[in-house]
Amino acid sequence: MAKSEFKEIKKFEKEIEQCAKCGMCAFWCPVYQEERVEYSLARGKNVIIRGLLSGELELTDKVADRLNKCTLCGTCTQNCSARVKIPTAIVAARADKAKNKGVNFPYNLVYRQVLPRRELFGNLLRCASWFQGIFLPKTEGSVRHLPAFLSAMGKGRQIPQIAPKFLRQMVQVVNKTPEGTPTRMKVGYFTGCMTEYVFPELGKHIVDFLTRNGVEVIVPEAQGCCGAPVYLGAGDFDTGRKLADTNAKAFTDVDYVITDCASCASAIKDYKKFLADNPEREEAYGKFGDKIKDVSEFLVDVLKLPASAYKPSAAAKGKKVTWHDPCHLNRYLGVKSQPRQIMNSIPGVEYIEMPNADRCCGMAGTFSIYYYGLSQKIADKKVEGIKATGADIVVTGCPGCQIQRMDNTMRHKVPVKVMHIMELLE
Ligand code: SF4
Ligand code: SF4
Repeated sequence: MAKSEFKEIKKFEKEIEQCAKCGMCAFWCPVYQEERVEYSLARGKNVIIRGLLSGELELTDKVADRLNKCTLCGTCTQNCSARVKIPTAIVAARADKAKNKGVNFPYNLVYRQVLPRRELFGNLLRCASWFQGIFLPKTEGSVRHLPAFLSAMGKGRQIPQIAPKFLRQMVQVVNKTPEGTPTRMKVGYFTGCMTEYVFPELGKHIVDFLTRNGVEVIVPEAQGCCGAPVYLGAGDFDTGRKLADTNAKAFTDVDYVITDCASCASAIKDYKKFLADNPEREEAYGKFGDKIKDVSEFLVDVLKLPASAYKPSAAAKGKKVTWHDPCHLNRYLGVKSQPRQIMNSIPGVEYIEMPNADRCCGMAGTFSIYYYGLSQKIADKKVEGIKATGADIVVTGCPGCQIQRMDNTMRHKVPVKVMHIMELLE
């Protein structure tokens, strides 16, 4: 690729040129901690990116692979005195590669033809669910291997089964507050693919909890995938823009847009930074991104619910719980205290802080598909911390992290449940 073809990386050139090569990022990078090679850490990736821009390096598959070995956790930026934004430059490099060399099969087919068509995606998953029920034996608990046609994505990962009913079949488009409960505000609910297809009971519970607490919840039919695997993972910005346009249009006339998925929230907020290619999109994506609130952030900072509103669910009553900070919630959205405040307010639930609660769990969407072994090793680091707490339940705020924790704790036979924070609440 010619130097002139790095259009996206060039936009963020200033953000990376501050690197002083101090190497402090080596202490924090979860990938470097496992691989111990220079190109794993932000400093090494910075050298690669500068080499691409200067024309000294070609973006070959090998170079792209070295850049791709990054969970985009943001730990390097957070701990870097110059706040060098390597994850941003890596996403830009993925975009330049996708623009010039395309996206590999079968991902190109899934991203361009399936993900933007939510009905088709849902139907394919429904078929998968059907085959899964017939042909695949259930493993421990409620967890199964992924169906064969999705096995490329799962690599043997233990994940919950695809739900027999999707969220949109369980809630209305307009969910009003119950009779006698005054409506304090109206929000849109960006449901995300995991909640829609894998954890619909969680989504239904969120709608019920919010409406009971005076919030009208709109679940627009037109919303689609947030685009994280498409544009942040694979660098397919063209398809990412289609998804972003659809989502930005689907949520008008609401005060806020809430999500239960930290990765979705962060991807949506980043539409403006990565995908806005004209003033109209810049305005639309900016407005949409500004309305996004993680559900725990919404309950604490916007709705300002009193502690008495947080009653334990049957599954949480009398339990010890600990919290895993999703990278996108903590580092990208700055949501750290709110979930802890909620958990500390639930009567009869004991909250115990986990050592290294904010360490990346290695999920990182498509990263865990391409580099499953590495992703598992990163996840393994969390197990000791979980065990040290003696908790009955590991709680988080991202369905992706939830799946990673389920897979990981099951492999290590750690007797804990993994739950979303909203499942702790009655
Ligand atoms: S990215 Fe930051 S922490 Fe890493 S070498 Fe450069 S200046 Fe140091
Ligand atoms: S974003 Fe995370 S994985 Fe990527 S270079 Fe920085 S610390 Fe390492």
